[in-house]
Amino acid sequence: MKIAGHLMLPDPAQAAFGGERVRLAPGWLRIEGGVIAEVVEGDIPDDADAGGTGSVVCPGFIDAHMHLPQFGIIGAHGLGLLDWLERVTFPAEMRWADTDTARRDTRAAVRRMLGAGTTGFAAYATVHAEGARAALDEAQRAGVRAHIGQVLMDRGAPEALCRPAGQLLEEAAALQSAYPTDGRVSAAITPRFAPACSAALLEGAGALARATGALVQTHLAETRAECVLVGELFDGQGYLDVYRAAGLLGPRSVFGHGIYLGGADLSALAESGGAVAHCPLANSFLMSGRLDASGVLASGAGMALGSDIGAGYEVSMVRVARAMLETAGALRISDAGRGPETVPTAAQAWWRITAGNARALHWPDAGRLALGAMADLVLVCPDADTKRTLFTAPTSAVDPLAGLLFGWDDRWIERVLLQGRPAGPIPDE
Ligand SMILES: [Zn+2]
Repeated sequence: MKIAGHLMLPDPAQAAFGGERVRLAPGWLRIEGGVIAEVVEGDIPDDADAGGTGSVVCPGFIDAHMHLPQFGIIGAHGLGLLDWLERVTFPAEMRWADTDTARRDTRAAVRRMLGAGTTGFAAYATVHAEGARAALDEAQRAGVRAHIGQVLMDRGAPEALCRPAGQLLEEAAALQSAYPTDGRVSAAITPRFAPACSAALLEGAGALARATGALVQTHLAETRAECVLVGELFDGQGYLDVYRAAGLLGPRSVFGHGIYLGGADLSALAESGGAVAHCPLANSFLMSGRLDASGVLASGAGMALGSDIGAGYEVSMVRVARAMLETAGALRISDAGRGPETVPTAAQAWWRITAGNARALHWPDAGRLALGAMADLVLVCPDADTKRTLFTAPTSAVDPLAGLLFGWDDRWIERVLLQGRPAGPIPDE
């Protein structure tokens, strides 16, 4: 199969804001056996099986932090994190006691993500082991790439959502056996956040992570109130220190938010090889704060990007990328000392939601148009005016990648491919 158009390729050129970025170049890809078998730069051929002169070929977008059971609560505005969890989120997650609901919710969530070009994601399920297993099964059936974790909670939540630590650790280990870490769909180790976990549960999760090499995902320093609560619950320990003591700080750890981390925390995170999952829309929606993403990157720590549905309200990772630029811009406005390099370019934003997120999620063969990479692709056909700006106006002041990012419309998505095959509608049964 041959797919032609303006290829969104990794660009090795160095720049500020973490260095990496993409570039657009005309050419075509040959897909064989679900992987990219050839990348050719040059004239766009007119005999391709898909795409053409007006198309952009992107790697499938990747969402590094989201919650599958929370699509139905998008828009519960006006609450801070801890109230939002108690009044909105926990009741929604109780619905997954019914495994069929978990299945239906996952199918609907995957459908919406594919519709927005997201072909891979790291997601939280709920505390229900069977619900988490159903979510893993459904993701596998749909053909997407995913880490999905049963949420571990043994306190600080309604009784219906807490389980004894021993039971949770057994269930999480069983999911690891069913969906090991090298699979296209794998089980992630997912303590919700320190306030909902005893030290014993966190330690058990850390031991399981060490034994399996699975991705670890949790929340960290999203609001000031939560940081105070962690200090009270863990004898004054710092938030990141709690995770480190439990063995949960490592190169395969992705920490949602991380807004309120000090310099020593960021150094420790950088040293561990772990990453913060920046969720700019959830941060503004719950009025949690603004992450200084350039500060995180300057520290050497990793940074991924997440929609954080349902505190975040945009399924499209393109709009999440745009929100990262907007947050960086707002920080620059409020602090005259910040230079232009603290605001990422569009080329860097596209890299973040493709190869950057693939790196944070340990998928070396995802998120890039490169030889041997999985053919999880998004074929984009912008409207006529945008096409003119992008491809036929050499004197245009608009950088094509910025034109694509800021003018983005999900309706431009012409086709989504998973391992080279069209992502079809997922059958209900
Ligand atoms: Zn979250």
